[in-house]
Order: sequence, then structure tokens, then C-alpha cells
Amino acid sequence: MIYLRANTYLVYIYMNTSEEDTYVVPTSLVMRRTICFYCSREFVADLHVLDYNYGIRHCELHRAAAHRDINAFLHLSGYVWLRDACTNEILNAMCNYLTMSVSIIRSNGDISNGWQIYNGTNIEHKYIRRINGSWSMPMLHTSGITKNVPLDSFRLPQVQTANFAVLNSTFYELLEKSLHILEKGLYESAREQQRDKLLATTQETAGVVSVMTTSGQHTRVLL
Ligand SMILES: [Zn+2]
Repeated sequence: MIYLRANTYLVYIYMNTSEEDTYVVPTSLVMRRTICFYCSREFVADLHVLDYNYGIRHCELHRAAAHRDINAFLHLSGYVWLRDACTNEILNAMCNYLTMSVSIIRSNGDISNGWQIYNGTNIEHKYIRRINGSWSMPMLHTSGITKNVPLDSFRLPQVQTANFAVLNSTFYELLEKSLHILEKGLYESAREQQRDKLLATTQETAGVVSVMTTSGQHTRVLL
């Protein structure tokens, strides 16, 4: 069975390739070399996260690794894609209630009606985010304004009263379960899979350096 032996040898080589023992952190894709961030071979796609210029560039072989590392990044950063939330039965049922027009409490304490879960195309607003310890839902007002609304603010008596006609006891049960799920983390397993791996540094393009702007933000420029 020479064929099988040869195959086993190839698997052995593959398993011992160092690039399989590494993980990547999403980074700016602007002015970045057009190669896979894991193995430097030809890339097939960019996986974007938070912004269209930010993410992981990968080859076909590292497509799954890129997905794992994007999810681990989201886990550590306190973000959950709305599309991933929809794959969870409880979160999806809770989100469905918020597709109706509901009332929220504004930062100044006023109750404002005419809000629903964000359904636009801007990638920045497609995440449930943990902001100052509160999981917040991206929501859109009929006027076009967007706002990250803390989910726990729906528990407030004045908000419950304002939503009396649209949100029932089932919603509030789903809300408590959803907050528990978000706190535990949807992407915990992706982060676990990274634990025995080493962080790979993304190769910098020749002539490009990282600098800090006067406003304190890191950016990359071509010299
Ligand atoms: Zn690769």
C-alpha cells in the first residue's frame, strides 16, 4: 500500500507546517501586500470585519483559519455579527421583536419612538456590541439616525410602559436569555481553538510604516 504510506507522509508534513500552528489578528488591508496572511501564498479573498478596509487576507487553504480568527477577534472585542446572532434560536426570536417599531430611552432620559433593529448595509452597524459593560443593539430611527441601544435599557419600567403594545412577556424572557448567551459568548470555541497557537505577524509592505496621527490614531503611510 505505497499510496497510503505516501498519503500518510504528506499528512505528517502538513500537520507539522508551522503556518498551521499560527493565528492572525485582523488588521488594516490598506496598502497591504496581496498575499495570504498565514502562508504568504497567493490570496483568494479578504474577510472583512468592522470596516471594509479591515480584516484578514487569506488563501484557499486558510479560509477556515481566517473565519476562526475573525470570530475569535469578535469574541475578545465584544462584538457579535447580527447575521451570527440570527443563527441562535433565542437571539433570533428576540431580534424579531425588534424588527417592529419600538420605543427606546435616549441618553437624556427622553423616551423616543419609531426605532427598529438596524437593517441597512453599513458594515459598522451590523454588530451587537458590548459598550461600557452593556450589550447594545444597533437600531435605526425612521429619520435615518442610528444608535447602539443597551439591551438592558428595555427592562426599565418607563421603557416597558412605552412598549406595552408591542413587547410582551415572551420578549422579556427572551431578552434575559439573550443577555446570558451574549455574556457567555457566541464565538468562545473560536478563541479556544487559538489557545495552542502562536500569533503570526502580518508582513508589512515595503516602504509602509505605522505612525500615530496628531489625534492619537494609528495609521499606515507609504514613505
Ligand atoms: Zn495561506
